[in-house]
Amino acid sequence: MSDTTRLNPATIAAQAAGAVDAQSGGVVPSLQMATTYLRDAAYQPLRPDNIYLRDQSDIVRVAETVLAQLEGAAEALLFPSGMAALAAAFRTVPNGGRVLVQSQIYWGTTKWLRDFCTRRAIDLREVEASDAQAFAQACADFKPSLVLVETPSNPWLRVTDIEAAAQAVHAVGGLLMIDSTAATPVLQKPLAHGADIVMHSATKGINGHSDVLAGVLATNDTDAQIWTDIKADRHDAGAVIGPFEAWLLVRGMRTLPLRMREMSRNAQAIAEFLDAHPLVETVLYPGLPDHPGHKIADRQMAGGFGPLLSFVVQGGADKALQVAGRLQLFHRATSLGGVESLVEHRHTIEPHTGIPEGLLRLSVGIEDINDLTADLQQALGN
Ligand code: PLP
Repeated sequence: MSDTTRLNPATIAAQAAGAVDAQSGGVVPSLQMATTYLRDAAYQPLRPDNIYLRDQSDIVRVAETVLAQLEGAAEALLFPSGMAALAAAFRTVPNGGRVLVQSQIYWGTTKWLRDFCTRRAIDLREVEASDAQAFAQACADFKPSLVLVETPSNPWLRVTDIEAAAQAVHAVGGLLMIDSTAATPVLQKPLAHGADIVMHSATKGINGHSDVLAGVLATNDTDAQIWTDIKADRHDAGAVIGPFEAWLLVRGMRTLPLRMREMSRNAQAIAEFLDAHPLVETVLYPGLPDHPGHKIADRQMAGGFGPLLSFVVQGGADKALQVAGRLQLFHRATSLGGVESLVEHRHTIEPHTGIPEGLLRLSVGIEDINDLTADLQQALGN
C-alpha cells in the first residue's frame, strides 16, 4: 500500500487508501475468508503478520487504514458493531470508576451504559453536553475518567463544541470520546478538535448501504493506556469484525465523501422545506441557521451537516404515525446513513425518554430531492 496519508478524503476513499490485490493484479483487494494461516515445514508462519483470524486479517487492516486516514487518526480499530466498539472502550474503566455521558443520546448506548455501570459499580452521571456550562460544571464536580459525547446527537440533533468539551474533560484529567456516527469522518474530525477517541457506528453512513453491522474506534494517542487496554480487550475477548463485512465496508467507503455530500444537500433542502410547512411544529437540523447549535456545527463540521434530521408534526403521536404511514419513498425502519431514505417514530421505540410524541426522525438518502419532498408533501396532507 502506498503512502496515501497526504491525499484528500475523496481520493483516499475512492482508491481504498491504495489497496489492490498484488497477487492477482486485481484493482480491488481480495476477500480471504480463512480463519487460520499456514506455517512452513520449519514451522515458520508463511506470513508472520497472519497467524489466526481473531488476531489478523488483511482486509480488516485495509478497512482500518482507510478509516484512520479519513479520520486523520494514527490508528483505527474495527469492531463487529458500534455497540461492541463502545463497550470495548467502557470496559477499560475499573470497577468503582467514574463515567460521564451526554443525556438523551442514542437510546441503545444509554441503556447499555446504565446496565453496565450498575453491574460494575461504576458511578455514571448524565449531563446535557450541548449546554457548555452545565457540561464544564459536571466535569469539574465529578472528575470523570471517561466521557462520552455524541455530536450531532441522535435523535435530538444537539451539537456540542468538541474543543470546549475536550478542555473541560482534560482539565480534570479525563479522556473524551466522541460518537461521531451522524457526521462520519468526512464531515467532522473530532480528534482535530481535541477529542482523545472518536467512535462510529460504521453500520450507518460509513458503510452507507444498510448491509453491514460494524463499529470503529480511532485515536492519535496509540501509546495511551486506554488504547492498549481496548486493543487487548478486542483481541482477548474476540469482538472482531469478519472479513466479508470488512470487504463490504471497503467497497462502501469508496463513495463515502460523495454520499455524504449528496445526503447533506438533500437533508438541508428537506429541513428547509419542513421548516416552511404549516403542519410542522419544529425542525431539528444543525444546517438551519436558527438551530441552537448551527454556529458550532458550522465551525466544527465541513462539507455539510449530515443525513440525520428530526421534525415534530403538529397533532402528536397519532398524526406523526399517520404521516409516517402515508410515506411512499421513506422506508419505515430504524437506523440511518444508508443511500435509501428512512423514517422512524422514535417515541414508539423509546416512550419513556422525553421524545416528543409527534417527532419523526428522518435519515435522508441520495434519491432525487424532488421525489423526496413530493413524498413528504403528500404524506403531510397539504
Ligand atoms: N451510536 C449511534 C449514534 C447510533 O445511532 C447507533 C445505532 O443506531 C449506535 C451508536 C450503535 O451502533 P450499532 O447499531 O452499529 O451497534
